[in-house]
This record gives sequence, C-alpha cells and structure tokens, in this order.
Amino acid sequence: MVFQNNSLGDETENNNLIKETELKPLPELYKQKENCCGCTACYAICPVQAIVMELDEEGFLYPVINSEKCIRCYKCLSVCVFKIDQAAKGYYK
Ligand code: SF4
Ligand code: SF4
Repeated sequence: MVFQNNSLGDETENNNLIKETELKPLPELYKQKENCCGCTACYAICPVQAIVMELDEEGFLYPVINSEKCIRCYKCLSVCVFKIDQAAKGYYK
C-alpha cells in the first residue's frame, strides 16, 4: 500500500517537473567567449549531467547544455561568477 502511494507521488512529481520545464527558459551559460573561462563549475554542479564541456577550434573548453536533459534548476547559473546579470533577472535565487 505504501509502495503504491509512493508511486503515485512520484508520478505527480514528474508531471509537475515536465510542466515546469516547459515554462522556464534554457539557461544561457555565455553569450560571448569572454564571458566564460571554462572553469567547469556549471558542469560539476549539474544534477542531471545535462552539460558537456566541448573543445572549441582553439582547444579551449566551453559548456554546452543538452536541452532535453536540462530540468531548468539553474544551479549552473548560481555557481558561475559571470552570471550576475541573469541573477538580477530572477532566473535563480
Ligand atoms: S561556470 Fe561559468 S565560467 Fe565556468 S564553465 Fe560554466 S559558464 Fe563558463
Ligand atoms: S539548469 Fe540545472 S539541469 Fe539545466 S544545465 Fe543548469 S544545472 Fe543542469
């Protein structure tokens, strides 16, 4: 009985998560390369491994978000020292 209740709860939680994901924008980790130093903090904090670090043509690492995996928790923005402007927009607390 308890197991069934937990299952229903998980389903409701998953439905809420999908709705939330549809409403929120994908985080923007950088617009220009000078706004990212490739520190990998966003990559490390992501709870669902939605970020990969990819080499650019000069051999520097930059984060790329998989939009299908991203749950829009914005933890990646909260750890990035370059994202003060996005904090001001209320994308994360
Ligand atoms: S935390 Fe910020 S500076 Fe560091 S890799 Fe991610 S986007 Fe770039
Ligand atoms: S918003 Fe959350 S899930 Fe999406 S890339 Fe950032 S840390 Fe990962």
